[in-house]
Amino acid sequence: MLDISQEPGKMGKDSFDVAVIGGGIMGSCAAYSLAKAGKSTVLIDKYALPHFKGSSGGFSRITRRANFGIPELTPIMDDSFRLWEEISQKAHEELINPAPMLVVGKDRQAVSKMAESVEATGYKPVWLSVQQTNSKYKSKFTDDYYIFEDPTAGVLKADRCLIAVQKLFREVGGRVLDGWPVVGVEAGEPWTKISGPRGVVKARWLVLCPGPWANHVLQHLGVYLPLRSVRTTSMYCRNEQFPLSSFVDCTTGSYFYALPAMEHPGHIKMGLHDGVEMDPNQSHEVDLAGLRQKSLSYFKAFFPDLAEQYAFEQLCYYTLTPDEEFILDRHPRHRNIMYAVGFSGTGFKIAPVIGEVLTSMVQGKAPKHDVSAFSAERFKKSTAVKSKY
Ligand SMILES: Cc1cc2nc3c(=O)[nH]c(=O)nc-3n(C[C@H](O)[C@H](O)[C@H](O)COP(=O)(O)OP(=O)(O)OC[C@H]3O[C@@H](n4cnc5c(N)ncnc54)[C@H](O)[C@@H]3O)c2cc1C
Repeated sequence: MLDISQEPGKMGKDSFDVAVIGGGIMGSCAAYSLAKAGKSTVLIDKYALPHFKGSSGGFSRITRRANFGIPELTPIMDDSFRLWEEISQKAHEELINPAPMLVVGKDRQAVSKMAESVEATGYKPVWLSVQQTNSKYKSKFTDDYYIFEDPTAGVLKADRCLIAVQKLFREVGGRVLDGWPVVGVEAGEPWTKISGPRGVVKARWLVLCPGPWANHVLQHLGVYLPLRSVRTTSMYCRNEQFPLSSFVDCTTGSYFYALPAMEHPGHIKMGLHDGVEMDPNQSHEVDLAGLRQKSLSYFKAFFPDLAEQYAFEQLCYYTLTPDEEFILDRHPRHRNIMYAVGFSGTGFKIAPVIGEVLTSMVQGKAPKHDVSAFSAERFKKSTAVKSKY
């Protein structure tokens, strides 16, 4: 059993300044940033770390400055490059491979808006004609497409990033409690008590980053957010000719994406930014055949050199909010509890910045970035606030 008999004000072996629930990329970056800032921090996860059962699994994630979201995201995305570089240096590892991103779409305004976000950070998007694109990418885009490359984009080695951040967290004195599913949280001040299978941990601040399990964890605390966990898949297809680039077609609301599968040379990883609703605690898989078929048909039509079938796939979860922007906020009553959830399939790249923002919130300082647009307040009138889980 863990010992929680310490008096408030004295840190014991099972009492901490901060407990972070969730050892995916978001919680790991938050825990590392907090520990670096001098807070005694415990990172708690239900599974043995590192694991790839949540949203942070797999080999690769796109990082980019071309922003599909609200303008407040642009400086956050830009800053994340600096922090990933810092993490790479400290971990003595190259965690980002440069890979420009090809952005295509039929809505001129939407494509221009993304190009402008690259410009807003001081870089130049590279506009391409349809002919130039089809020749370079062996693609079949028609004359009604608007196309540019984000030359600053890259591919993060996701599994290596997760391992590196957790290692750095331990090196700065962070403690890991893994294989430790949190089953209860008793909010309080100065101590919040967190119960798991082998006892209770107490912490002055609690940071929640439970990914697709967010509804389960938050509803314990009386917080109801309009989050949907969906199962999705990335497929790996043979394609020797696709340049070392990422790709997104933002013509439709659910966009198609691809990125070089650097871990599997000769393949590209591709998919549709969509999924089928699935509670991550349920034991049976949902049927993703429709999702696979849509992706294969799209890529076959626009990149005819792609193999007819996928060689293998990787399953994962998105946690979607109604506007597909994340939610970062404090508990409405227990101000020492914070959460960062609903990263809607695009959060990996910005995790180090989110970690720093959460650290500032714990320290009672104004965060470097204005995150007010990401508060839960915006869903107050939402009819979907009561989730089905
Ligand atoms: C197919 C796919 C492609 C993507 N592509 C990109 C991309 O190109 N670029 C990009 O930036 N992002 C991308 N993303 C999104 C990105 O991967 C996620 O936004 C990010 O990984 C979310 O991390 P997280 O830490 O919030 O969640 P998770 O990684 O799921 O971590 C949550 C953690 O909480 C733990 N937990 C939950 N409940 C409890 C409990 N009760 N007790 C203890 N622990 C608990 C879980 O075990 C888990 O480890 C993609 C996602 C997918 C699925």
